Amino acid sequence: TYQPKNLLVTGGAGFIGTNFVHYWLQTYPDTHLIVLDALTYAGRYSNLASLEGQTNFRFVKGDILDQALVETLLRDGKIETIVHFAAESHVDRSIYGPDAFLRTNIDGTHSLLKAAKKVWLDENPGFEHRFHHVSTDEVYGTLSATDPAFTETTPYAPNSPYAASKAASDHIVRAYQHTYGLNTTTSNCSNNYGPYQYPEKLIPLAISNLLQGKPVPIYGDGQQIRDWLYVDDHNRGIDLIIRTGRVGETYNIGGNNEQTNLSLIHTLCALLDERFPESPQVPHQQFITYVTDRPGHDRRYAIDNRKICHELGYYPAETFQSGLAKTLDWYLNHPHFWQADEIQLFGSHATAKEQA
Ligand code: NAD
Repeated sequence: TYQPKNLLVTGGAGFIGTNFVHYWLQTYPDTHLIVLDALTYAGRYSNLASLEGQTNFRFVKGDILDQALVETLLRDGKIETIVHFAAESHVDRSIYGPDAFLRTNIDGTHSLLKAAKKVWLDENPGFEHRFHHVSTDEVYGTLSATDPAFTETTPYAPNSPYAASKAASDHIVRAYQHTYGLNTTTSNCSNNYGPYQYPEKLIPLAISNLLQGKPVPIYGDGQQIRDWLYVDDHNRGIDLIIRTGRVGETYNIGGNNEQTNLSLIHTLCALLDERFPESPQVPHQQFITYVTDRPGHDRRYAIDNRKICHELGYYPAETFQSGLAKTLDWYLNHPHFWQADEIQLFGSHATAKEQA
């Protein structure tokens, strides 16, 4: 197995990155970790503030497109492992403004690859290293109700500008492995949920609206199907891939947990009913407001995770019930996270919030 010692984590102040950084430093306290994050609307330094002062942690505010900065961090931090989360990640935003997605997700990933190639391959031939690229199942496009789930060999068919930008980045990572021999791995994961998720995404949006007595906006008929994975289960999968995965391979990570958006909201309402038995139990439909469907909205995603399970012994530890309960309790205990003034919602979510 490969044992990372000095890591550069891009996008470590965002949702999954924050959870990864906390998970990693708790699991491997003898390693050193630098977070590089531009602190866009989606990133918050306060997510990591509790680590300030730890000698194995450093935060750098900066853009992954700044190749010179990345090279300096790699050299000065003696970094041999990059875990690349930084991205523009919200599909709705990509529909109305794709430029930032192409810039960060495609050019930004390429900038990191160029820096890694220069410092690891050109300046230090033989230097042991890993570049792990975090990607999404959305690169595979959409499924009908009866299609088999996505495997690692499903052809790419991205439908949104977000998915297309991630698909492009996956291909560039692959090319750097095949052409230059950079030691890369890639994971394509399904929808994540858990602590620190920006309240523009479905689950934290639903939780914060429900806690404020506001309706939850649901796209179209609410019958879109997603596979949901608790964020720590994603990060445990990334950890396994970095340490024990095969270089040049891609691994799908998923929870075997397909839910329609509508059933997800009902599960959440039922959990809230349990948490607040004294409040009047209102039919859950009253908490839902249907909004015009997202253009080109993918109908169903499903992940076949047998490769990572069989090869690397992966399994998702949380059930949807246990993961959702943990998530709800985290939001209940951290109201400042979702009530913060700087929260900017987008499109019909913002409209639904204003109308509520
Ligand atoms: P997020 O939007 O919560 O966080 C992204 C982080 O990247 C933010 O902290 C932001 O400040 C930072 N960032 C953006 N542009 C940057 C730039 N140019 N330079 C440096 N930092 C920059 O996203 P997330 O949900 O945590 O997703 C993380 C990664 O996982 C992304 O690559 C995403 O495509 C992938 N992914 C997400 C999901 C999901 O369900 N959220 C599922 C599968 C894969």
